[in-house]
Amino acid sequence: RKPLRSAEGATPAIAQWFAAKAAHPDALIFFRMGDFFEMLFEDAEVASAALDIALSNRGEHQGEKVKLCGVPAQAVDAYLARLIRQGFRVAICDQTETPEEQKRRKAPTIRREVTRIVTPGTVTEEALLEAARPAWLLALAPHGDVLGAAWLDVTTGAFATEGLSAVDLSALLARLEPAEILCPEDFARDPALLMLTERIAHLAVPRDGARRLAEAFAVATLDGFGSFGAEEIAAAAMALDYVRLTQAGGLPRLSPPVPAGGRGVLQMDGATRRSLEILRSERGDPRHALLGAVDRTVTPAGARELAARLASPLAEAEPIAARHDAVAFLLAAGAVRDALRAALKGAPDMARALARLSLDRFAPRDLGAIRDGLTRAEAMEAALAAAAGVPPIPALIAGARAALRPADSPRAELLRALADPLPARLDDGGLVAAGYDGELDALRRLRDGAREAIAALQMDLAQAWGVASLKIRHHQQFGFLAEVPSAAGEKLLREGMKDGPQAPVHRQTMANAMRFTCTALAELDRRVAEAGEQAGKRERVIAQHLRRLCLAAASDIATAAAAMAELDVHGAAAELAADGRWCRPDMTDRGDFAVVAARHPVVEAALARARGPAFVPNDCDLSAGRRLCLLTGPNMAGKSTFLRQNALLVILAQAGLFVPAESARIGLTDRLFSRVGAADDIAGGRSTFMVEMAETAAILNQATARSIVVLDEVGRGTATWDGLAIAWAVLEALHDRIRCRTIFATHFHELTALAGKLPELAPATMQVREWRGEVVFEHRVGPGAAEKSWGVHVARLAGVPRPVLARAQEVLKALEARARGLDPLSDELPLFARATPAAPTPAAAADHPAVTALAELDADSLSPREALDILYHLKSLL
Ligand code: ADP
Repeated sequence: RKPLRSAEGATPAIAQWFAAKAAHPDALIFFRMGDFFEMLFEDAEVASAALDIALSNRGEHQGEKVKLCGVPAQAVDAYLARLIRQGFRVAICDQTETPEEQKRRKAPTIRREVTRIVTPGTVTEEALLEAARPAWLLALAPHGDVLGAAWLDVTTGAFATEGLSAVDLSALLARLEPAEILCPEDFARDPALLMLTERIAHLAVPRDGARRLAEAFAVATLDGFGSFGAEEIAAAAMALDYVRLTQAGGLPRLSPPVPAGGRGVLQMDGATRRSLEILRSERGDPRHALLGAVDRTVTPAGARELAARLASPLAEAEPIAARHDAVAFLLAAGAVRDALRAALKGAPDMARALARLSLDRFAPRDLGAIRDGLTRAEAMEAALAAAAGVPPIPALIAGARAALRPADSPRAELLRALADPLPARLDDGGLVAAGYDGELDALRRLRDGAREAIAALQMDLAQAWGVASLKIRHHQQFGFLAEVPSAAGEKLLREGMKDGPQAPVHRQTMANAMRFTCTALAELDRRVAEAGEQAGKRERVIAQHLRRLCLAAASDIATAAAAMAELDVHGAAAELAADGRWCRPDMTDRGDFAVVAARHPVVEAALARARGPAFVPNDCDLSAGRRLCLLTGPNMAGKSTFLRQNALLVILAQAGLFVPAESARIGLTDRLFSRVGAADDIAGGRSTFMVEMAETAAILNQATARSIVVLDEVGRGTATWDGLAIAWAVLEALHDRIRCRTIFATHFHELTALAGKLPELAPATMQVREWRGEVVFEHRVGPGAAEKSWGVHVARLAGVPRPVLARAQEVLKALEARARGLDPLSDELPLFARATPAAPTPAAAADHPAVTALAELDADSLSPREALDILYHLKSLL
């Protein structure tokens, strides 16, 4: 590393840069110089590589050339977006006075200050955000055994907290997928955070969190918002501090924090989410994820709400039923649904516009967004008003309707005030409509009058100077100038009149033209510029007035925006169900799960796109008496699809949507576990088998009688007997101890023999036919067990050479013959005699050290990791 240079001997501007860098060492400094943002020294090297822009040198500092690269201020958003996506933080060091002010101060350089820090979790600019995804900023405050978590979205003002145990952190991360994480420096080494280092910012846990929060929300106590643990409050205050830091002291509009508490939510760990591809698929194609397949929303805010619901389905009967009621209503009332969706389509994102307004970092279109959004909201309200009466409007729809018309709506005022079309930037002028403000109108008249006078002057000068082709043009720098061809210009220089208001004064010589002014023109130019400047100032005053008007109604507008998003989601769910092939799930409080003719929405859509064979619907019944479905069948027969499809039905139902089935009776589920597909942890350095066992352990430790577990091929990662033994034991534990609803797919046909021994076990198999020596997959689940393995057939389908296949057939025959003499299920083989917990330990084994160690073990208190360590230890005792 090079020795750190100091600010000593720096020019005044470079000294400002050093001050900014010292205050924000982790950020790239975007240093405003005129129309550009420049990066200096190492920042320049990093940024030029990250943005692929030219690196140059300018001047020297302490004998070293100053490296420099820059981006135009006008296009800064696009460059920021690229840096943010690459995990950088950027401190914007802007010019905070005008050159005139600097002159008045007689300062050596213009004043510059860091006006904000742009970070992945605190951006509000449209260009920097993904429209359909929330951008969560997550703060973590470890506090003894518990972990305080608080997450907020500055773009919508949503703010929630939760106290959790440290082991649940990875599940929370999987659920929120935060854009940025805040935590104390030492906590960043937590294993769950290891893969996320570039998204982490270090921040100490504040002591007086409660006071800071209460101040920020202008309340005496937080009690009114709900009951929070101390760790939740600390985390919430951290998040708030950080937002303030990045916004250079300002705070966006935020809703008061809601203690989410984890209650009432279907719990799913990271492995389950990955396996079910809820928001995104393993390969990243959104169409291959559940969200992509079921998303019929028409607004980005609706899409965000749907994603949030699928990521956190509910777990309590009433709120789920309320959502289903809303969907059922909009399904029946097709005309209302159409009207709502028509009003929603193309509706602006009011929540995000509001965030930019509250931070005073808005563009004219943000005011337009509030105006147009409220117009859409009123149209939706009218559509619902028309539907009032019969059938009765369900509570959620009625609630949304009430929210659609804010009490102090700024809409009427915005309609009068805003010009159409709106300019792209405030500085462009033209935000305010004519007739709204007398003073502005007068200034504009003055400006336009002077412009007209200039047009008239053009004719006068053409005559007075004797140049018919004279044109008066406007230049950014010089204002209005009269342009004449070079020859005429030369003549004017020689012979032009020497005094009087129209005497030409030379300003510029170009290749084939010359530009002149004269006192008359300069005077008019000054009047245009002055009136223009005054008009601009007046417009900014009006823009601020309109902004305040919106902010005064901010919480109502935010509520209306949320109601629109909610109606979008209900409408979308109804739209999905409108083809008659989705049904309202019947949610019960027992351990039911009985679905008829259910489909996997993603696979079904993919098959339809490919115009291949239609998806084959399947039933699944895990009700009492047959809680555990043991599924066999060859590869490619559709086992994983069946496992996932039933898990997805639970998610859809508890998220409040209808489900792709003819009928579905689903008992409320507290936790959902899915282990389907390759369990690799290459980055984490654990073998597939190790990962599989750790995940199986997590299920055995956490699942309850109200959980649903879908498991694919436990034990496949090790030697056959080993694997079979583990699968066997896991199956028994699920059946006897946990008693949850389970689908257990396996290659071990031996397991089907358990059917007689485990009363709740119901064997099922993927039906396969043989036709002219080829396998035909029916994709249909039937009762019973697979008759034989079809591995060799599948190998043929995959193109394994014929001689190898033939040899495999031979070996298979030989093995099968041998196996007949060695039935693993005969009770003589002690390995597979069912362990009865009460059975006395044989005397010989009783004093074996391994047995003693086992007897002393409290299995319920072990983490998966400890369990594995103990296993190794026990093994070493043998
Ligand atoms: P397995 O897990 O048994 O190896 P998969 O579930 O991966 O099998 O299914 C293999 C392929 O079969 C899928 O990619 C899909 O195209 C097709 N498939 C699976 N289930 C069905 C079904 N119910 N109807 C139609 N095609 C299906």
